[in-house]
Amino acid sequence: MIVLRAFKTELDLNNAQKTACAQHAGAARWAYNWGLARKIEAYQKGEKVPTAIGLHRELNVLKKGELAWMYEVSKCSPQEALRNLDRAFANFFRRVKEKKAGKKIQVGFPRFKSKKNSLGSFRLTGSIHVFEKAIQLSRLGVLRLKERGYLLVDGVKVLSATVSEQGGRWFVSVQVEMDLPDLGQTAKPVAGVDLGILALATVSDGTRIENPRALKHSLRKIKRLQRTVARRQKGSANRRKAIAKLVKAHLRVANIRKDTLHQATSLLAKTKSAVVLEDLNVSGMMKNHHLAQAIADVGFHEFRRQLTYKGEWYGCEVLFADRFYPSSKRCSRCGNVKAEFDLSERVYECEVCGLIIDRDLNAAFNLERWPTASSAERHACGEGVRPGRPAVLDEAGTEPRSASW
Ligand SMILES: [Zn+2]
Repeated sequence: MIVLRAFKTELDLNNAQKTACAQHAGAARWAYNWGLARKIEAYQKGEKVPTAIGLHRELNVLKKGELAWMYEVSKCSPQEALRNLDRAFANFFRRVKEKKAGKKIQVGFPRFKSKKNSLGSFRLTGSIHVFEKAIQLSRLGVLRLKERGYLLVDGVKVLSATVSEQGGRWFVSVQVEMDLPDLGQTAKPVAGVDLGILALATVSDGTRIENPRALKHSLRKIKRLQRTVARRQKGSANRRKAIAKLVKAHLRVANIRKDTLHQATSLLAKTKSAVVLEDLNVSGMMKNHHLAQAIADVGFHEFRRQLTYKGEWYGCEVLFADRFYPSSKRCSRCGNVKAEFDLSERVYECEVCGLIIDRDLNAAFNLERWPTASSAERHACGEGVRPGRPAVLDEAGTEPRSASW
């Protein structure tokens, strides 16, 4: 099976290389913003809105005059930026359509890129060579990697490389095409997985994937830095410095989180034939402003995304229990459904059969059972609640995540 995969790692650049990368990112940003302005202008005048191909042709004419500086960077950089712009519009129109069809999502028009928080990124195609300790790109030459051997995979076809800057560090993400051996549906078990804040994921086979300790520490640091930024005067050098620190701290949290998520989703995709998760309105959940919660929400979205594509590689189906399934309130031993089960309670105690169990593990057991549950079981809501309706609705009009959140 041929799959597309991306590997991202940090670059170890000297000053001349940093300048060259910043120049390429600048050209990409310039092309993107110029293309966006051109599209808007054409639309307002009632002309045919130009696509990436047309815009690139226009840009080549400009390069002969006022944009001569662009000859210093690879032609891929503005070209790929214009392709990204087309993609941004395609996504925008797709989301407008989905919203019209009744999906609860926010739709944003493609925005101009600023270099306030990051110098940005650029993508190169064409001649790309990956070595154990370095990567060779057209125009930029050989760039050293901080981690050796990470990008080197035998028998892969390199499609493109994206170089980006975040918090003063430069990264390269290499898009490759890989041929994975067909694993088939071997006798792997089904698992239910409960996602939460305290433990990142609780699996019905008893595995508990903890949130890394570094995360909590970093979250405290972010809160502190946010206050510092708020205290600094707008437009001042000190505010700019404080923002740079904040961006760095956010990046660290994102990296820690992503790393843990990758480990968890790889493990599940490789060892299970199917994984059952709760299906929730993730966009609705994003409105929560509590920091830990917000990051957990993003994590849930990312967990689901990673598990879905890795599942395709390793033959693991991802199933979603619908949001009326009482995975938290149901007793995983006798099937009794509690009328109420408070969010703060960490232990599930069944008043019917006497089962005492960790609430997340109980939910994971129930999720594992979901594929074979009858439709009455799937929609049991506990006593005193009309069936077919969630017990509590939050502001967004969606049922809150399992009580473990
Ligand atoms: Zn029970």
